[in-house]
Amino acid sequence: MTAFNPSAFRQQFPALSDAGVYLDSAATTLKPQVVIDTAQQFYSLSAGTVHRSQYGAARQLTERYEQARDQVARLLNAAHGHQIVWTRGTTEAINLVANGWLLPRLQAGDEIVVSEAEHHANLVPWLMAAQARGAKVVKWPIGADRLPDIALLPSLLSARTRLLAVGQMSNVTGGCPDLAQAIALAHGVGAKVMVDGAQGVAHCPPDVQALDIDFYAFSAHKLYGPTGIGALYGKAELLEEMTPWQGGGKMLTQVDFNGFTPQPAPWRFEAGTPNVAGVVGLSAALSWLEQHDRLKAEMWSQQLASLAEEQLGEFPGFRSYRVGRSSVLAFDFAGVHHSDIVTLLAEQGIALRAGQHCAQPLMAALGVSGTLRVSFAPYNNLQDVDALTRAIYTALDLLSEEEA
Ligand code: PMP
Repeated sequence: MTAFNPSAFRQQFPALSDAGVYLDSAATTLKPQVVIDTAQQFYSLSAGTVHRSQYGAARQLTERYEQARDQVARLLNAAHGHQIVWTRGTTEAINLVANGWLLPRLQAGDEIVVSEAEHHANLVPWLMAAQARGAKVVKWPIGADRLPDIALLPSLLSARTRLLAVGQMSNVTGGCPDLAQAIALAHGVGAKVMVDGAQGVAHCPPDVQALDIDFYAFSAHKLYGPTGIGALYGKAELLEEMTPWQGGGKMLTQVDFNGFTPQPAPWRFEAGTPNVAGVVGLSAALSWLEQHDRLKAEMWSQQLASLAEEQLGEFPGFRSYRVGRSSVLAFDFAGVHHSDIVTLLAEQGIALRAGQHCAQPLMAALGVSGTLRVSFAPYNNLQDVDALTRAIYTALDLLSEEEA
């Protein structure tokens, strides 16, 4: 493992040679050169696809594709690579659980408990399932610390609860709820737990066995990998009892006009020609990540967010929605609309996000119509923080002149 050096790390990201200041890594991370090279080599040199042909190139590709499951299993400390299902990303992984596991078991009157801090991806699939069966989605509210209130959870769980849906890390506040406690409480009433790892995976990959997680989803594009690929982890017995959601080639062992016999997991959930380039790219990103001191890299991102919070805190009306020492910093300024600021920041070459961050219930709970959000990655540096502070100073100045 190489010691973490911010400028050496930064040099591996060609997108940063463009003059802009990239502070939107919670939306998607930039890609290191090795991932770009792998994608290029894949399309330049590889032939055939996976699981379909006997010739050498296709067989090698199948091996590479299957071995990448073991890499993800290592990342999450899953017992076996066969517990990793390739999906289009977090959204598709959660929809797969909603359709393949929950829906066939869900009955009228059943309940699904969902934290108020969730991204729409970990709320809407449960609303859809509940609507289809006459079941109910129960809100697990956030507390004064902006985390789902663990003290309230026991009163929301009951024998009617089929599933608890909770994010590992909020894409707005950066807050990480106490997963171990939430999972133990849900298991206590016989419910399963879906953990949305879209944000958490890049910062703190979980030990799915130690935490006793039932289902865990993440997207490669937030972990330095390609878009259009992600994974679902599931406990082996849950994947075994899960029904295929999409039908098509290679998800079955036999088919005639009377029906079909599905493959075992994970292949029965991967109908059609898969995103082989995506899997190969994710595999490259994981091999690259394994060479870095991720803890030090994470501490650096958090330090930058703390510095930004401190510097922006000097401006009048600054309000931070950050939880703990997260690398994500959502904020606004009292009396100033976030979209006015973000437009002026874009003009100054600062890439960040403003709005509701696909978390409308959380925005309502925070009592805001939207926020600005900067999110740091280990390739950011002190100059990025200073550029942000200067640009916000200019934006606030221009807006106050307009008002005067
Ligand atoms: N959950 C969270 C917390 C997220 O931040 C995101 C991405 N913004 C998603 C789910 C959805 O991920 P994807 O769009 O890659 O499916």
